[in-house]
Amino acid sequence: VAKKQGRNLVKPFVPSMQDEMTKRIRVEADLRSAIKKAEIVPYYQPLVDLKTNKIIGFEALARWKTASGEFIPPNEFIPVAEEAGLIVDLTDQLLRRACTDALSWPNELVLSFNLSPIQLSDRLLGLRILKILGDVGLPTHRVELEVTESAIIQDAVTARIVLDDLVNAGVRIALDDFGTGYSSLSQLSNYRFDKIKIDRSFVSSFETNDKQDKVIKAIIALGAGLGVTITAEGIEEESQLQRLQDLGCHIGQGYLLGRPAPLEELTADKAGAKVSQRR
Ligand code: C2E
Ligand code: MG
Ligand code: MG
Ligand code: MG
Repeated sequence: VAKKQGRNLVKPFVPSMQDEMTKRIRVEADLRSAIKKAEIVPYYQPLVDLKTNKIIGFEALARWKTASGEFIPPNEFIPVAEEAGLIVDLTDQLLRRACTDALSWPNELVLSFNLSPIQLSDRLLGLRILKILGDVGLPTHRVELEVTESAIIQDAVTARIVLDDLVNAGVRIALDDFGTGYSSLSQLSNYRFDKIKIDRSFVSSFETNDKQDKVIKAIIALGAGLGVTITAEGIEEESQLQRLQDLGCHIGQGYLLGRPAPLEELTADKAGAKVSQRR
């Protein structure tokens, strides 16, 4: 019986593991070709000043539109790009494109761009980013890079070199997904960030959870104390927006304020209307 059971337990995993591997190999090959054909492009989600209700910039979010018209989200292909050693090429391509797009916006608008944790252990990253900004002609003060705490913990020495190169050149750094890592507070005292982005999970639950409300309040107070701008991610409802405004949160982002959209469509939604008006 044991033998039979054992076999039954093991058996279902074999084909699925094989499927997983086959899938991975295929995704990797497709990804390589997508980068070559520049099929992965940045979409842009507005960052809104919660006091003035004006757009202050856009966060670039990578979108892979396959030949069959299917969209693959970044959480699926960024890890593959990292493991396959494709993240440098992909980032260079996306950043170059995003900087070029940003040149067509009103020139006070900021471009916010995400970096993968793994990239911050590449000590040449800062210089490569600055080279791209220089090539495109986008001033460094219009660029903000979003990093997570885990990025800094992985290789603190190199991360500092990279961030210093960028900060010294005038690029701003935002701490993304704040509150989800395990050492947020130590990172805050170790490095001078310009912005903290409160993770969506806090914003989505804070009306139903009184403690979350207090946490958000405390993060905003922390930001005030440190002189750091606070952004709230994932605002989907009017009531959330209202509460964050009451609490004095500086910047907001979320489907309510504008969904990620391709450059061509920035004029079609709420965000784009504002951008084109101000152009
Ligand atoms: P993130 O930087 O925290 O980006 C915010 C994510 O929340 C985005 O997902 C965005 O579409 C989504 N979002 C924004 N507002 C709302 C809302 O109101 N409700 C909900 N439910 N979601 C909202 P997305 O575009 O799928 O990106 C996921 C993650 O992938 C990003 O998280 C970022 O860490 C990473 N990523 C995206 N683009 C790039 C890139 O070019 N390079 C790297 N290295 N990572 C990227
Ligand atoms: Mg981000
Ligand atoms: Mg985030
Ligand atoms: Mg996130």
